[in-house]
Amino acid sequence: MAHMALKEARYWEQGEDGQVHCLLCPHGCRIAEGRTGFCRVRQNVGGVLRTLNYERVSAANWDPIEKKPLFHFHPGSPILSLGTVGCNLACAFCQNWSISQGNAGTRRMTALEALQAAQREPDNLGISYTYNEPFIWYEFVLETARLAKDAGLKNVLVTNGYINEEPLRELLPYIDAMNIDIKAMNDNFYRELCRGTSQPPRRTAEIAREAGCLVELTNLVIPNWNDRDEDIRALVDWVAALGPDVPLHFSRYHPDHKLTEPPTPVETLIRARRIAMEKLHYVYIGNVWAGDGENTLCPSCGELVIERRGFTVMRLSVKDGRCQFCGGDVAVVGT
Ligand code: SF4
Repeated sequence: MAHMALKEARYWEQGEDGQVHCLLCPHGCRIAEGRTGFCRVRQNVGGVLRTLNYERVSAANWDPIEKKPLFHFHPGSPILSLGTVGCNLACAFCQNWSISQGNAGTRRMTALEALQAAQREPDNLGISYTYNEPFIWYEFVLETARLAKDAGLKNVLVTNGYINEEPLRELLPYIDAMNIDIKAMNDNFYRELCRGTSQPPRRTAEIAREAGCLVELTNLVIPNWNDRDEDIRALVDWVAALGPDVPLHFSRYHPDHKLTEPPTPVETLIRARRIAMEKLHYVYIGNVWAGDGENTLCPSCGELVIERRGFTVMRLSVKDGRCQFCGGDVAVVGT
């Protein structure tokens, strides 16, 4: 990683003996001179916390919004997708580990350059901060999202939800939609597989939703870890309390990075979806083809209102948040 622009980080305070105390995420790292925090992209340089990934981009692509996945936000739209390096969780099953835990190459891109890139494509919806964890890219995301919002573009986060409340609330006015990973409902899973705790991502989802941000959730279903009926029911009960119209994506795990469990059987995902549909309106299956697992049905009349294949919208029968068959509400924005 090149260290051209060591911008001072937001959200930190002086600690004892030259340490700095990072206040950005729940890890609350206390970092000695010359060392980095858990995420490896915030460093104590001479008693000041500095960010190592500011204006550093590891990947920039045009993706369909469905790939995030966001199924209820401007369906069928392309979005400029940017990522950097680093993560503040260390998931043993990470499917993007070369950029989240590794040292992928980066190139410099300023917030203005990101905006200009986003404006180059006339149909572009906005900017998605994705591929690795955007909250530990905080300063760049905040700066870029402000510019994009002022220019009439949308901002989207694909995140593990691992951030403290104060920085989250500062960023939220500029964020239109988020997909948040809820990996499991218990600390045991987060501690053993991710080196974190389970509550912060749920709090992020609750705060984001209260603030009017469109929230979709992803749960990677891993055999022997979070695939029992009681695991699924605990998740679904919490999502239902957040709102039965919150879309939930069950995603198929396959062995990657350090975890060697076998891939999730498709039947497990279908079972999870069936359980979730008892309480939620919009439940999807991702990372594998599973029949109608990507389609949206009208909660009122049951008609197929959005048909998807892969990341492509094949048919769209929602207008201004209403089913075109029965006029009932369908929680989709931007049609
Ligand atoms: S953002 Fe990074 S340095 Fe700061 S508390 Fe979280 S893991 Fe530690």
